[in-house]
Amino acid sequence: MAKKEIKNFEEVGVLVVGGGLGGCMAALHAHCEGANVLVVEKANVRRSGGAGTGNDHFGGIVIPGLSKWSVEGLVQDHTELAFGFVNQDLVYAMAGEGFDRVKDLEQMGIEFYKRDGEYYLFPQLHKVRSALYMAGRDIKPKLTKELQRRKIPVMNRIMLVDLLVRNNQVVGAVGMNTRDGSLTLFKTKSVVLTTGACFRLFMNVTGVLMNTYYPPSSTGDGLAMALRAGAALTNMEGTNAIRGPKNLQRAGSGTYWPAKTVDAQGTPLEYPFPGEAYYRWPAFTAGWTRAQIQEGKIRLPLFRDTTSLSADEIEFVEWGLRQEGGCWMLLEWMKEHGKDFRTYLMEDDTYERRVSGGSGLFVDAQCQSTLSGLFAAGEVIAGLPWGAGPGAITLGWKAGGNAASYAKKASSLEPFSDQIDLILTRIKRHKPRGQDQWSEANLALQRLMSSYMGDIRSEQGLKIGLYRLEELTGEWEIASRSPHETMRALEVDNLATIAKACLSAALERRASSHYHLHFRVDHPEWDPPEWKKWVLIRQVGDEIRMEHHPIEYKYT
Ligand SMILES: Cc1cc2nc3c(=O)[nH]c(=O)nc-3n(C[C@H](O)[C@H](O)[C@H](O)COP(=O)(O)OP(=O)(O)OC[C@H]3O[C@@H](n4cnc5c(N)ncnc54)[C@H](O)[C@@H]3O)c2cc1C
Repeated sequence: MAKKEIKNFEEVGVLVVGGGLGGCMAALHAHCEGANVLVVEKANVRRSGGAGTGNDHFGGIVIPGLSKWSVEGLVQDHTELAFGFVNQDLVYAMAGEGFDRVKDLEQMGIEFYKRDGEYYLFPQLHKVRSALYMAGRDIKPKLTKELQRRKIPVMNRIMLVDLLVRNNQVVGAVGMNTRDGSLTLFKTKSVVLTTGACFRLFMNVTGVLMNTYYPPSSTGDGLAMALRAGAALTNMEGTNAIRGPKNLQRAGSGTYWPAKTVDAQGTPLEYPFPGEAYYRWPAFTAGWTRAQIQEGKIRLPLFRDTTSLSADEIEFVEWGLRQEGGCWMLLEWMKEHGKDFRTYLMEDDTYERRVSGGSGLFVDAQCQSTLSGLFAAGEVIAGLPWGAGPGAITLGWKAGGNAASYAKKASSLEPFSDQIDLILTRIKRHKPRGQDQWSEANLALQRLMSSYMGDIRSEQGLKIGLYRLEELTGEWEIASRSPHETMRALEVDNLATIAKACLSAALERRASSHYHLHFRVDHPEWDPPEWKKWVLIRQVGDEIRMEHHPIEYKYT
């Protein structure tokens, strides 16, 4: 069957899956190391992924001679902020190597904000200044140009469908062209998975299916592929959320936002890290804030209070807002409605849950997953919460280099043909005459997740959720009348795979956890010490298996 249906073949040393920030950097480094690299991208590398419409800040780094803290200090602070749920090696790499990557980006023509000729660090997530502003609206076109300059091949509009594994080693993959439906079989010695975050699993605040604040095509495909291939994921109970301006979804949440958050009485929130309310990026504290609301300690609504900012600070904020995503819309809206940062209290909202950064593939310090030859970076990996752009760029670079070294030593193995047949069967499950629309299936999944995996969770609820998920996916026959619809159907399949992992992990974590935005009504104690550990999840056949793993702390 496989031979007849697949007409295109590619053989490479390093296959980079996803050409976002992490993927571009992985490809560049693997190429520098002399590997034969290929990037496959579901959209078009030029504007794909979270940074497609621009990034404005590069945070969580230490600049020698300028930063007030050592790398170790920053790692400790990051650990505290994430209630201990970090892979300190990954944070260390981001904090310590981030500035080298800044230099790389500058070489590609991306400018960083300076004052009097010096890099200007501002306080954002950490207790000390650790973030730079960058003119990053065109970061993706500039990275694409660099790939072209180095003649690194890119295949756009290829959705990678599944990985091929032999003896616990990744040996290939199957991809589908989203325009003509043709399939490609990739044979490779190593893979770098950089498929980004997972959205569309939970309903967004506007209720419009594709109105997500990340590209709606970020559906966690890499997580689902990795799970099917047998790799371990972790923290899947930790679907997290960020906060931003209410009713202006993704029009201002993501930039430097030196606002106090005040409650309905105008009282500033006291974060669990006293004295830093001004600097902590309120967007990041959704888990803690929600817990406080549930406990009746905070009274809604919440507002961002920028009324005491100086003219200089406002100018600085506005500069950033123009560099990233749809944030310029906030400025336009304020202008149109006569709103001024010095007088206007902006209502704050928690956005939809997502799986990214803190949750995902379980990798080691070298970005190697539990499968040989499978490396990963960016928002698809666990243990680096809020790593965002710098995490993807720094770890992407690392993963690419390590994948290249691995490929030099690995032998090329033939994929099993029955595995390929299984993938083809999965693709063909969706037929032109299918009676369900992919969008309806997606909405049904979102409703299921909101019901059983929302703010309040319980053993019974999660078990019912898993049962209903089986019912739902067993029943659906998603219509696939074009390659585009097949892509959407496969995305929804992937979301269902991730849903199963999330529900199972949430059932396993029998404690409440601020960081995970995980409130178990039947286990209400918050973050008890015996639960400060990773819950690892693997798929063996159709069965989900769990394992508990200690979190290692080198910097305390
Ligand atoms: C509007 C906006 C503004 C942001 N601003 C900032 C900022 O200022 N600073 C900051 O640090 N972070 C920012 N972020 C976050 C940052 O952009 C992301 O953290 C970063 O892009 C993640 O990199 P990544 O490589 O993991 O994933 P992405 O850059 O999202 O790339 C993933 C890529 O994989 C592709 N892909 C997915 N599935 C498949 C598949 N099956 N086959 C092939 N390809 C696939 C996608 O199309 C995409 O191109 C912002 C995000 C958004 C949405």
